[in-house]
Amino acid sequence: MRVPEIFGANVFNLQVMQEKLPKEIYKSLKKTIDGGSALDSGVANVVANAMKDWAVEKGATHYTHWFQPMTGITAEKHDSFISPTKDGKVIMDFSGKELIMGEPDASSFPSGGVRATFEARGYTAWDPTSFAFVKDGTLYIPCAFFSYSGEVLDKKAPLLKSMRALNDEALRILRLFGNTTAKRVYSTVGAEQEYFLIDESVYQKRKDLKYTGRTLFGAKPPKGQELEDHYFGAIKTRVGEYMKDLDAELWKLGILAKTKHNEVAPAQHELAPIFTNTNIATDQNQLVMETMKRVAQRHHMRCLLHEKPFDGINGSGKHNNWSMSTDTGLNLLDPGTTPAENGQFMLFFAAVIKAVDEYQDLLRLSVASAGNDHRLGANEAPPAIVSVFVGEELEGVIEALEKGVKYNGKGKSVMKLGVDTLPEIPKDTTDRNRTSPFAFTGNKFEFRMVGSSFSLSGPNIVINAAVASVLKEFADRLEKASDFNAALHELVVDTLKKHRHIIFNGNNYSDEWKEEAAKRGLSDLKDTAEAMPHFADEKNIAMLESMNVFSRREVVTRTEIMLENYSKTIVIEALAMSEMAKRDIYPAVNKYVLSLCASLEAEKAAGVGDGAAEKELIASLAADNASLYFKTKELDELLVAEKSYTDAAAQAKFIADKIIPVMREIRAYADEMETKVSSEYWPFPTYGEILFSV
Ligand code: ADP
Ligand code: MG
Repeated sequence: MRVPEIFGANVFNLQVMQEKLPKEIYKSLKKTIDGGSALDSGVANVVANAMKDWAVEKGATHYTHWFQPMTGITAEKHDSFISPTKDGKVIMDFSGKELIMGEPDASSFPSGGVRATFEARGYTAWDPTSFAFVKDGTLYIPCAFFSYSGEVLDKKAPLLKSMRALNDEALRILRLFGNTTAKRVYSTVGAEQEYFLIDESVYQKRKDLKYTGRTLFGAKPPKGQELEDHYFGAIKTRVGEYMKDLDAELWKLGILAKTKHNEVAPAQHELAPIFTNTNIATDQNQLVMETMKRVAQRHHMRCLLHEKPFDGINGSGKHNNWSMSTDTGLNLLDPGTTPAENGQFMLFFAAVIKAVDEYQDLLRLSVASAGNDHRLGANEAPPAIVSVFVGEELEGVIEALEKGVKYNGKGKSVMKLGVDTLPEIPKDTTDRNRTSPFAFTGNKFEFRMVGSSFSLSGPNIVINAAVASVLKEFADRLEKASDFNAALHELVVDTLKKHRHIIFNGNNYSDEWKEEAAKRGLSDLKDTAEAMPHFADEKNIAMLESMNVFSRREVVTRTEIMLENYSKTIVIEALAMSEMAKRDIYPAVNKYVLSLCASLEAEKAAGVGDGAAEKELIASLAADNASLYFKTKELDELLVAEKSYTDAAAQAKFIADKIIPVMREIRAYADEMETKVSSEYWPFPTYGEILFSV
């Protein structure tokens, strides 16, 4: 495999555009891509035609507007290029209009009532800032999705809006530092994607995995991740073959798949690409997830992207490495070495700290889902409390700035931002403080709360918008200043003083931190039902509206969609659980108990033994199985009651407070019985069998 040759082979990227388009057309399209202007229809026609010819050469017969509705996955409707001719034949045709706009029937996508049924049509609009590509005989055109009244119905449009806000405000700041060369600022993301691989045969035998993506039952296996022998361990041949295949597929799609390794849990792995602009990173991560699943099936395996496929075993996250970059390649979170660079860095750094503090709740709820509720706050992933890790060096700098002394206390004079040089901030490679939800790692922040199955869009909309809103405040203040360096110094010191309480460098998993965080007044939203309604808090709506990211109506409807999504997910899990308990586990245990009774009788007949073991086992299994039965009955009743709720928040709360605890009890009975019932009788593959199936 010659990687440079296959890399991006299926992507209509800048290089291909330059090759296939007339010079003027390319220039005009490039201007649109760079955010300069709208695409005119003449240009669109030429681009569409070139794109079609290129795609047909790659074997494409169809095209699709590829978009990201609120379902969390991507949507596509394929149309062929064929167009009939007078002589009864067809030609391959694709117009600028078809490239720029599509009209999928939108009535079945969640919109939270934004799109009343009489205006069921939504339209998709080409996003030229993310490249088109060919996959499985189809030309994919990345698109945003709107209603006819202009409300956004998807995850891409608000992300693009948040990136624009960040661009506008960050540029204002850069100009104040005398930077006249940067034309654009965009946020960058590199997402580390965790996943599980299991054999197809065990997957097929687990209804829960098939219906819900996670196991609803399963006793702890004798060996889990205790020995930590899987983490960074040698990759098995079969998994290696899979990863090789996956890399090749991703490279063809122009995705910079870079790192792959085993993760902590058995059967768990990770893939990380090289970071890129957030819009592209988001589209590409959708492709990564989809390709992971597809390639797994080719290898007779299943890829699980659920946040918590196995209880008691580490779940999967998606670390969102985030920074800001100029079009000239300057990373705005790189400390630099000169006093001026240091000053600029400290300003952007302080802006992120303030943004995280002021919008803790938004960050928390941007990663809230039924699946991620199993991770956050459990003892393996970041807690549900948002805080920032900055490391010793920066902690020292902050302290010195607050006290008005030189760092390390060596100098007698006052440290002045923009005048003095800061100490070098080491890139954090050794102690990464893996417990922190939001960690500064030398030249970027790593947001670790994102769930493995999430679209990158939600969390990055929040980070971009929140940071943009703070930068706006900063720019407003600094633009008025007569002495820039003095104003800068004061602003950074003020900001860090005020938001210091969000910084925590210790162990985020400890109970002491929970207490300490409560004392500090940090927000602690325990689950989705509790977190999500805060989306529509006045301060959040005000910020999102002022940054032009969401309208009030969009926030309100999105809150509802997300809560409904949560409720539906748990209801499906509860229904699957009820079915498995009643139709599989209960009968299996009964059968085994019967066999024990038979063996007891046989012993009696033979006149051997006192049957003590059978008696004990029969009694305990019969009791637990009866409890399983009655708890399941209770669950069924709760599922009926759940249906009567019309308010999304109240419904979610009922599910979180009433249904989930009963599900936990049912599981406990089943898992206990699993350890006692003969493996011949147990209806499902065990954790051990699943986790060590590959
Ligand atoms: P780790 O040691 O955690 O693997 P890396 O430096 O390799 O740390 O980074 C992990 C991820 O962070 C990769 O996807 C990488 O491309 C991404 N990353 C690095 N720099 C940036 C940046 N400036 N902006 C966004 N993501 C970045
Ligand atoms: Mg990392």
